[in-house]
Amino acid sequence: MSKMTGGPRGWLKVVTAALFGFMLLLGPVSPAFAQQSDSGVAGKKFVIGTDTTFAPFEFRKNGELTGIDMDLIRAIAKSEGFEVEIRSLGFNAALQALTSNQVDGVIAGMSITDERKKVYDFSEPYFESGIQMAIAKGNTDIKGYEDLRGKTVVAKTGSEGETYAKSIAEQYGFTVKSLDQSATMYESVKAGSAVAVFDDYPVLAYGVAQNNGLKTVTEKVPGGSYGFAVNKGKNTALLGAFNDGLAKMKANGEYDKLLNTYLADPTAEVPSNFWDLLVKSFPALMKGLGNTLLVTGISFVVAMALGLLAGFMKISSNIVVRGIATTFVNIFRGTPLLLWAFMFYFGLPQLTGVEISIWVAGVLTLSLNSGAYIAEIVRGGIQSVDPGQLEASRSLGLGYGKSMQKVVVPQAFKMMTPSLINQLIIMLKDSSLLLAIGFGELLYQGQQIYAANFRVTETLIIVGLIYFVAIMALTKLANYADRKFNK
Ligand code: GLN
Repeated sequence: MSKMTGGPRGWLKVVTAALFGFMLLLGPVSPAFAQQSDSGVAGKKFVIGTDTTFAPFEFRKNGELTGIDMDLIRAIAKSEGFEVEIRSLGFNAALQALTSNQVDGVIAGMSITDERKKVYDFSEPYFESGIQMAIAKGNTDIKGYEDLRGKTVVAKTGSEGETYAKSIAEQYGFTVKSLDQSATMYESVKAGSAVAVFDDYPVLAYGVAQNNGLKTVTEKVPGGSYGFAVNKGKNTALLGAFNDGLAKMKANGEYDKLLNTYLADPTAEVPSNFWDLLVKSFPALMKGLGNTLLVTGISFVVAMALGLLAGFMKISSNIVVRGIATTFVNIFRGTPLLLWAFMFYFGLPQLTGVEISIWVAGVLTLSLNSGAYIAEIVRGGIQSVDPGQLEASRSLGLGYGKSMQKVVVPQAFKMMTPSLINQLIIMLKDSSLLLAIGFGELLYQGQQIYAANFRVTETLIIVGLIYFVAIMALTKLANYADRKFNK
């Protein structure tokens, strides 16, 4: 093995250098970590987290983020002379991102509550809200909370709706199931896996007006008004600018105008038929597909490098080298992919104080996971080559390294190819899990679309077909390459 060490070390350098280069490329010094002086915000750029969909406050229209919150923060940024970069993360994820300084502020129909005031600073309130319960349109059994006994209701993770539902759950004898998105909550009520949803009443009212298949039967529970939030004691200048801009917009009537645009005719957002839906959603879905393919492509290259390195290390005669590779494989094969996505995107920045771009977090997640599997494929491939081959080659006078390179590895590679193609396809599908950290891949774009227009089944069918076609094409391409190079 001694002659082989030059190989793996070289690989290691290349991989490390590539990873660092990649991080530098994609994670330029974030505004979230740049020091803000209290003197002002002019010319600065702030990263703002928001919910994925919470229509009419934030939702997608033809792939673009729109809604009351979005227009509000953009208008204020314009009038106060700062820039915003909006990250559509999901409500709970946006709060996590704020806590971990991944974003500078959150605007997400976020209620100002005493609990939250302990960790965040809020702007002046900009919208009155509260909680209400909704049930399926055709449901005639539920007339009040008393009828919830023994049943399951849904609410959004980390939201006021969840807190309220939990606060009365025991009294009325129902179970609260928490979900991450409004659209998913509504669908589970319509599909019958939950009988009711607790959500903010302005949002429920908007959905009901769009004919989303729900209705309300109980009274509204007045609650906290919405505010823009920053981390406690941080970004005070941004908060000040928000209040300033909001006051101006309220005074000159622009704020009312903004509300009217969204609250006037909710039905305008609903596509009329399947083709309309397809045409309207296609650009956003193609953008999602692009991101899916790109993150998979980059991750696969990194995973191959890692996998080859660890695979060769696993057959090393050196126990330490072997141990390192085995530990790597065990860790990443023995833990869920999603855990690493959260770890890299939310955990690591808190631990290190360095912001990690969503692309870096995505690539690390997919490539480390896949690298562990590829390591096993590589090890298995090499070990499956008849040892006689190596012996024969060496008896012909070739050294260990040369024998490996010329005789063993080419044969092993041929055997590995089908498994590697499999791994690539698995990775492409697994990349959809990155939607949980708000990565704009294909399924995420699909969710954004149905969350705004409630056409869940049709949108999922379209998304499924796009995945299928992409994977078929990729398989064909890979098989072609296999035939061409592995003759
Ligand atoms: N207003 C609710 C809260 O702050 C829900 C917000 C949301 O779901 N985006 O908890």
